[in-house]
Amino acid sequence: MNKERLYGKTLNELIAVSRRAGLPGFSARQMADWLYRKEISSVEEMTNLPKKAREFLSAEYETGLYPPESSSESSDGTKKYLFRVLNNRFIETAYIPDADRATICVSSQSGCKMGCTFCMTGKQGFQGNLSANEILNQFRSLPEFKSLTNIVYMGMGEPLDNLTEVMKSLEILTSEWGYGWSPTRITVSTVGLTNPIKEFLSGSKCHLAVSLHSPFDEERRKLMPVQKSNTVKEVLEIIRNFDFNSQRRVSFEYILFRGLNDGPKHVRELARILNGIKCRINLIRFHPIPGSDFISPDEKTISAFRDALNAKGILTTIRASRGVDIQAACGLLSTLEQNK
Ligand code: SF4
Repeated sequence: MNKERLYGKTLNELIAVSRRAGLPGFSARQMADWLYRKEISSVEEMTNLPKKAREFLSAEYETGLYPPESSSESSDGTKKYLFRVLNNRFIETAYIPDADRATICVSSQSGCKMGCTFCMTGKQGFQGNLSANEILNQFRSLPEFKSLTNIVYMGMGEPLDNLTEVMKSLEILTSEWGYGWSPTRITVSTVGLTNPIKEFLSGSKCHLAVSLHSPFDEERRKLMPVQKSNTVKEVLEIIRNFDFNSQRRVSFEYILFRGLNDGPKHVRELARILNGIKCRINLIRFHPIPGSDFISPDEKTISAFRDALNAKGILTTIRASRGVDIQAACGLLSTLEQNK
């Protein structure tokens, strides 16, 4: 019989567990402390709970932590880990060390429904939503866990298409009874699902990154089918009307495709539609995937595009490509073969 997993439960869920075990409500905080602070690997180690309750919990629950199945390392130090999820499906997680930062890029779904035409994950279709346990296990069971400084929800899947479990994972990461991380160390990326964005903005304080890729409706529709039902115009309206505090950041991800979205008219239109929004743009080189005709512009064009946006007053940076040689870079994650 599969036992229920305790790791990944919120405080309210742990209160329900403690009631089942005949424990007072405050025991939930003790359990959270063991799970998220003291890093135990079995229920028996919760030694401040009565023995009888521990026996009950051990019979019904497990902590639910499990290591990656395999890993590969890039020549630039980026690592990619393969985790088993959802009863024999797989996901990938990237670990990206930098000078003073160590970032984990977590997956929120196995595969993805969004079908962005430039993305390997999009090409593998959708296999299922990850639970908060499966999202956070990537973080906690990463061999480099203790060195992590930042978390980005930019791995496989669309995080806001799995809003409930993603929000639970954010609550555990940022609550004082959980990991107590500052929300400013966490970024959630989305293609721009309008209703979930509202819930994410009001229910968390983490940074928001929106995948933009073109300021023009028709062009964006060809790159990202989501534009048909959730337009950038609507997304920008939501962002414009939300009261961001000074700590919270909105950024726009922009993958550059040669001859498609890298011209002066794109700079002008980006400046127009983002007018009045305090934000930054991250330019990303396109990394080729099989069966795609897209090509990345050369470095000179990318730099000129960045400079033109900066001249328009939009803080724009070029994201370093990391882990390309192990298919860990942006748009390259895929577990199609393993899932088969
Ligand atoms: S880019 Fe993100 S949202 Fe689009 S298909 Fe890939 S994983 Fe899904």
